[in-house]
Amino acid sequence: MTAAILDGKALAEELRTSFRPRVEALTAQGRRPGLAVILAGDDPASEVYVRNKVAACESAGIFSQKITYPKDTAPETVLAKIAELNADPRIHGILVQLPLPDAFDEKAILATIAPEKDVDGFHAENLGALAQGIPRFIPCTPYGVMKMFEAHQISLTGKEAVIIGRSNIVGKPMALLLINAGATVTVCNSKTRDLAAHTRRADILVAAVGKPRFVTNDMVKPGAVVIDVGINRLPPEAGGKLCGDVDFEAVKEIASLITPVPGGVGPMTITMLLANTIESAEGKHTP
Ligand code: NAP
Repeated sequence: MTAAILDGKALAEELRTSFRPRVEALTAQGRRPGLAVILAGDDPASEVYVRNKVAACESAGIFSQKITYPKDTAPETVLAKIAELNADPRIHGILVQLPLPDAFDEKAILATIAPEKDVDGFHAENLGALAQGIPRFIPCTPYGVMKMFEAHQISLTGKEAVIIGRSNIVGKPMALLLINAGATVTVCNSKTRDLAAHTRRADILVAAVGKPRFVTNDMVKPGAVVIDVGINRLPPEAGGKLCGDVDFEAVKEIASLITPVPGGVGPMTITMLLANTIESAEGKHTP
């Protein structure tokens, strides 16, 4: 069996087209969606992510404000800026690009963002709502994965779902979404004993590990749906290309559906950031 490809790029484009009338309607009502992106430090990957997010806003007609700080900025300066943005009526979403420099207390920064402007969905209040099964802002990457399931009518109820990775931004919220959708969910981590015994049971396998080609075909159940969240840059001697956490060439021969890297989950993540910003401007998550 050769798997069908879950094309995140095409779905992302389709969704972005569907956003246009919503952005136009909001703009006509004087509520043009607005996103503020804060970047502290000089991490090159973060700079690329922020640039892409700002460009995506621009092409969607969303107002965006990029605020950058050098690595040695006092955390209080950033906290004061967040407080100012919380009160700014032009801004419906505030995003602090992670990781932050070491001097910053990430939890304190994220807790300062008003929950009703937390378009990344990392605030404890929004994660709590998700855990209670009454989601408000959903973290963008798992939200994008759920949209892929929906678009391809992949039923989740009663399915065995296995997630490799328990990070706050991918693994944990992904688990909550799958639990809420009625799947039987296993979340694995670096201490999991006999990982392959878990992954081989999965009807739905989500890899969010951060290790190139970590998931090999002997770890996958024939016919499984395989979602590769990983984005890894191979070393120059290996071609320097981007690759996922899944050994795509081998696993596509055994899975029924698989996301490629690039062109799978990646384009969906920024798209769902736009979705969250628009939902915020529409007042969908205002208590
Ligand atoms: P992370 O915070 O580093 O978490 C990685 C997780 O993988 C951890 O829970 C870790 O376990 C687990 N792990 C590591 N080695 C393992 C092993 N041998 N067996 C089982 N589990 C293992 O990473 P993340 O932020 O979740 O990101 C994961 C990947 O997704 C990265 O490649 C990242 O670049 C990518 N990503 C992509 C998008 C996108 O838009 N496509 C968005 C976000 C992230 P422990 O907790 O025990 O250490």
